[in-house]
Amino acid sequence: MAQVFKIQASIKNYDWGKLGIQSVVAQLQKEGCSNFIVDEKTPYAEMWIGTHDSGPALIPSLKNMKLKEWLLENPQSLGDNIRKVFNHMTGLPFLFKVLSVNKALSIQAHPNKKTAEHLHRMFPDKYPDDNHKPEMAIALTDFEALCGFRPLCEIQTFFAEIPHLQKIVDSKTIEKFVNSDNNDALKLLFTAIMTCSPEIFQPVLLQILDYFKLKQFNNPLCESIHELFLKTYDQYLGDIGCFCLFFLNYLKLKPGEAIFLAANEPHAYLSGDCIECMACSDNVVRAGLTPKFRDVNTLCDILTYNCKKSEENKFLPVSDPGDPCVKVFDPPVPEFAVDSIELKQTETPYTLKKLQTASVLLVVKGKGSYKCENEEGDLMPGSILFISNGCQVSLTPAAELLMFRAYCNA
Ligand SMILES: [Zn+2]
Repeated sequence: MAQVFKIQASIKNYDWGKLGIQSVVAQLQKEGCSNFIVDEKTPYAEMWIGTHDSGPALIPSLKNMKLKEWLLENPQSLGDNIRKVFNHMTGLPFLFKVLSVNKALSIQAHPNKKTAEHLHRMFPDKYPDDNHKPEMAIALTDFEALCGFRPLCEIQTFFAEIPHLQKIVDSKTIEKFVNSDNNDALKLLFTAIMTCSPEIFQPVLLQILDYFKLKQFNNPLCESIHELFLKTYDQYLGDIGCFCLFFLNYLKLKPGEAIFLAANEPHAYLSGDCIECMACSDNVVRAGLTPKFRDVNTLCDILTYNCKKSEENKFLPVSDPGDPCVKVFDPPVPEFAVDSIELKQTETPYTLKKLQTASVLLVVKGKGSYKCENEEGDLMPGSILFISNGCQVSLTPAAELLMFRAYCNA
């Protein structure tokens, strides 16, 4: 059997996904798999490329054998690092995804390894996964997200400018927060609001809705979330998560820009398409903007109340000094890194960096072909290659190629 071959992703139809062919997930899957039919009324939210049991990648040339099963039979393909560092792991330590976001995802954070294990032990039905889930998103289209706490002065400005906000918690908590420059008061205030009962926060939310509808403000910070507040309220009527707009940074990414979310960083993706890579896990603690199970107390408890300016949340790639075609997104975790690779059309084959670890390569734009010893095939948007540890692959672009390659970073 070849050591480099095409695999097929698993598709998730969560209700927040973009509908039909508007979704980059649907576009890529349709171009990459001849038998995939796009239904215009169905949301195509996520494409999973990996060995997680909830969405395993398949090998079409082997009658849709699971990649995970193939790796069990061919463990050398993973590379020694993966097996050593991740305690005899038999699948990929990362999960590579494409997301197409039509409406806000839940306000969430991903616990660290210790908390993930604890939550799984205590509540296996709510937390079926015991692994941590640091994650990174690279925008493919204009992308919006909430990410990390705002600088304290911005949150304080919202509480000063929007008088209704002061009505949902007791004046002592507010006072402590307004006069403080430490994160404990922020934690107290955020927890008090997120755990507030609907009888109290819903009338206040309606007043804030009027405030934004009537544009009763004259402040650039309020202006910056004016449309976002109305849109989020519309998507999740009366949801406590709307209050998070006053606490979390509102970040807009251009294609190619990225964010990295370490454990316990609050975030929510709002709109757009992105590449995502994470440790192989599905571990999420949610607190708002979702019909799914919410665990508000756990979320408020584990969050890092690190206040940063919006721009400081961007995660910058480094260029590869030996290869101008590659940008490396290299987060401080052993599970994964992602290369973005852009090739101009050329007759000369381009040699992909040889890695001592398994990797997956996703073509987003362009077309061309690949070759590795006796194996070769065509590449088009949606093509996904599994590349075994140590394999040397050459690519010939027939049209400008944009690709992303995820690999273990240990
Ligand atoms: Zn997340």
